[in-house]
Amino acid sequence: MEFYYSCSECGKIYDIIPERMVCDICRAKQEPEKPLKGVLEVHFRQTTGEKTAGVHLDIHSLLPVEERYFPPIPVGNTPLWEPKNLRVKTGFPNLFIKDDTANPTGSYKDRASFLVAGFALKHKIKEIAVASTGNAASSMAGVGAAAGLKVTIFLPEFSPKAKMVQALQFGAKVNRVRGTYGEAYRLSLEYSQDRGILSRNTAYNPLTIEGKKSSSLEIFNQLGGKMPDYVFVPVGDGVILGGVYKGFEDLIQLGLTDRIPVIYAVQAEGSSAISRAKERGDFESPVKSTTLADSISVEVPANGYYALKKLNRHGGKCLIVSDSEILKAQKELSATTGLFAEPAAAASLAGFLKEKDKLRSDATVVLMITGTGLKDIESAMKALSIR
Ligand SMILES: *Cc1c(COP(=O)(O)O)cnc(C)c1O
Repeated sequence: MEFYYSCSECGKIYDIIPERMVCDICRAKQEPEKPLKGVLEVHFRQTTGEKTAGVHLDIHSLLPVEERYFPPIPVGNTPLWEPKNLRVKTGFPNLFIKDDTANPTGSYKDRASFLVAGFALKHKIKEIAVASTGNAASSMAGVGAAAGLKVTIFLPEFSPKAKMVQALQFGAKVNRVRGTYGEAYRLSLEYSQDRGILSRNTAYNPLTIEGKKSSSLEIFNQLGGKMPDYVFVPVGDGVILGGVYKGFEDLIQLGLTDRIPVIYAVQAEGSSAISRAKERGDFESPVKSTTLADSISVEVPANGYYALKKLNRHGGKCLIVSDSEILKAQKELSATTGLFAEPAAAASLAGFLKEKDKLRSDATVVLMITGTGLKDIESAMKALSIR
């Protein structure tokens, strides 16, 4: 297998090397307060005689870092639940939960951190820097600890405490930024540039999108080589969404399927930039984010252009849910399945509950549950009326 980067906008090809993050040509057209221009996508070319698809798809062979470089921490291969009570209650006998709370640091972000850490080890890079609202930071810190890497984090002050405590536990250097995520993003790039430090900033490092494709490949394996009909994904920056699409596209390229599921991008009412852009055709000036679901609270979605392109190409849909719908879904998920998810993750269920009457009840539906509820008990307490 040969891997290379291709610009998601102009198609220009680049080598996968640590110095390469975005397409130079498209990056020059960057506008202020707009999503990143020139986001790169990993592509592969099969060399002759290679076999990736036996009975079970070999996921490692589809990643652009050799297996021997990955850190010794069990990221991915998360369970696909068959939530009986929720199936009965909703009338969907083929409803599944992809439980990414089961990742080592408790969120989907570990998939990206894992690939970025493996890439750093391959290239003998010693330090990784990341700006994050919480989960990307605690994830990079944990996976980085397993890899023996130094991790430096730029975290805005509003991040939930548990996520910061996780990062500190894992031994990361945490810089609290007085300001927005955008400000933390800028500071982290300043810090990492020209110093041989690898940036794990979401979407900016193309491997963050690529790492997040693995759940689609796992779902395909777990469903016995079949595609689901619908997948509900919570969306902030649009990197998970982009990764999920990328995984399904890989399956098409490999000839293992000829269709991509209908993906629902679920956003919070108070942070819905991608949904608005889908409706209006382009991104407008940012609107201040107000949702309590911190992991999908984004003003300018870093991967916005890429995510929008995929949604349009594959007939994806956008759904908006309110914070109260999110908290209700969070409680319902906990009480019917035993899975306590953070608000952003429960948005998947909130979206499904809102849309389900429009779907065939025998459809195979997957809810992407992206982070554990213990990361942010303050929000859950609101729904329980505890002070
Ligand atoms: C980051 C995150 C999301 C959203 O992912 P994006 O790539 O920003 O769209 C959803 N849920 C959880 C728990 C997350 O940490």
